[in-house]
Amino acid sequence: MRPSSNKHSHPSPVPSIPDFCPACDATDKPFVSIQRETAQDFRGAAIRVTSPILRCRHCGFDLLGPGHLDALRLATHDAYRRQHGLLTAAEISARRKAMGISQKRFAT
Ligand SMILES: [Zn+2]
Repeated sequence: MRPSSNKHSHPSPVPSIPDFCPACDATDKPFVSIQRETAQDFRGAAIRVTSPILRCRHCGFDLLGPGHLDALRLATHDAYRRQHGLLTAAEISARRKAMGISQKRFAT
């Protein structure tokens, strides 16, 4: 019942991709979702991360879309863990699932 425990309880937001580009003024819903590799500074280490981003197909302007900042953070954490030989959250989940369903593909 602590007030601080109620963080970000809003339901998943409706994706709101802008239908215009602020850089080139295209108004034909120019943004497409792509995977972009960037270098992120994390705990003093430069980490190359691939994460989704919106890019204007006319001028190449990049824009963080709904959830993209969270995706970038998660990807950065995963890349950091991978570099340090730790399991990523997805791998832990996949491994648990694999162990639960089938034992035959337990590769590292
Ligand atoms: Zn543009």
